[in-house]
Amino acid sequence: MSKSMTKFVCQQCEATYPKWLGRCAECGEWNTLVEEAVVKPGKQMKLRETGEILTSFPDVDLAEDGKKRFSTTFEELDRVLGGGLVPGAVVLIGGEPGIGKSTLLTQVATNLLLKNPARKNNSKLVDGTKLVNGTKSVDGMDDNHWPIFYIAGEESPRQISLRINRYLSKEQQTSSKTTQSKKTDYSKKTTQLLEDLVFVTSTDIDELIEVILKKRPRLVIVDSIQAMSTTDLTGASGSVGQLRECTERLAQTAKALHIPIFLVGHVTKDGVIAGPKVLEHIVDSVIEISGERSDQLRLVRALKNRFGATDEVGVFQHVEYGLAEVTNPSELFLEDQETNVPGSATVCVMEGTRPLLIEVQALVTSSQLAMPRRVGRGIELSRIQVLSAVLQKHARLPLGTNDVFLSAAGGFRVTEPAVDLGLAVAIASSLKNKKVPQKTIFIGEVGLLGEIRKVNFLDRRIKEAKRLGFTKIISRENARSVREVLQQLDLL
Ligand SMILES: [Zn+2]
Repeated sequence: MSKSMTKFVCQQCEATYPKWLGRCAECGEWNTLVEEAVVKPGKQMKLRETGEILTSFPDVDLAEDGKKRFSTTFEELDRVLGGGLVPGAVVLIGGEPGIGKSTLLTQVATNLLLKNPARKNNSKLVDGTKLVNGTKSVDGMDDNHWPIFYIAGEESPRQISLRINRYLSKEQQTSSKTTQSKKTDYSKKTTQLLEDLVFVTSTDIDELIEVILKKRPRLVIVDSIQAMSTTDLTGASGSVGQLRECTERLAQTAKALHIPIFLVGHVTKDGVIAGPKVLEHIVDSVIEISGERSDQLRLVRALKNRFGATDEVGVFQHVEYGLAEVTNPSELFLEDQETNVPGSATVCVMEGTRPLLIEVQALVTSSQLAMPRRVGRGIELSRIQVLSAVLQKHARLPLGTNDVFLSAAGGFRVTEPAVDLGLAVAIASSLKNKKVPQKTIFIGEVGLLGEIRKVNFLDRRIKEAKRLGFTKIISRENARSVREVLQQLDLL
């Protein structure tokens, strides 16, 4: 493609140039030029003509918003997506390298194929020129095949197959108690699976879209979007221009054919998914997988979701064969809690609609600095500062000469005020070097006057705490101020 087919646009002032410059001549900003394709009407038309496609998906239900959804086979992921995957949705999955993005998506692909290997008989494909129905074939792919495309731009298909084998051998183990006929059925399914998971090794976006148009896969996984490029632009893959152009073209295809697409995006050092923020505007949902590398736990969250809320969290655990869902996260979090050490307290946070019990930890040590340190992991700095000041003023704790470190266990980011009371108790517990009584949970916001304030969903939180064997629940129901609570616990 000739260079005249692209232009470079300043992201600051929108000045355009025929070639790349380090500095915009109009506004004087550095590194603001991004390559864009000059619109080619022919290419866009082609996509629109083939857009009239009707396919039926397995497990479709009509969600409240009228969008048809289907299950990813993982409840934890479905909930984060707002109740399943919407056909035609483009979902960007981000997270640090090695956190489990590819693992999760290969497991989704494997499960979907195992669960529903063939296209449903009643599905119809209308393809502009051809009508495909019953057993007639599109390019040799009949109704018994409904592939999932995996664009392997980062790993070799062999590596991915090895991972799938590991996952499948676990499935085989769980089915080893079943009868011989079921086993035969299983291996038949596996064979079909291997046929229908199609690895696309090209990283040329236009080649990929062409093959999507031909084969009509049920799901496309692009791993990763940073590896893709179009020859219409001169920039290298991973550049802002390429990322945007490739994502836009894929999004158009997804919408036209009602095929959902997962894009894997790596997180840069600054913690931004796929580099530029601009991708977030093109895709429907942005899902982030996070967790401490040393820890087994992986949290899945929506940072953006056109088809649902963004406050749900999905919990997975790293196991030998891949990622496993954790349906009772509170139990897992509390399992390795250090209840016999001062500075630990249990709180209840609402993650979307689900109450989760987690441990918060405090470390209070005498400070060598004129301005004592306040440090949080998973807890906002401003909250630590306010709580320290409140405890100093209303409970007379000498925190002005002490450093305060707070952390939420399991890599959680605790943003709810309802954890205030638990944090305050943990601080006092560490300062006094006295542990908090076992089976006690703290639910309450702490006001600037040291008062305990009401929180939402108190009933649901209490129910979850009781379910997990907590016998003493301290909230506004039985204490008015943080001072009163510390007195009760003999921490003053
Ligand atoms: Zn400019």
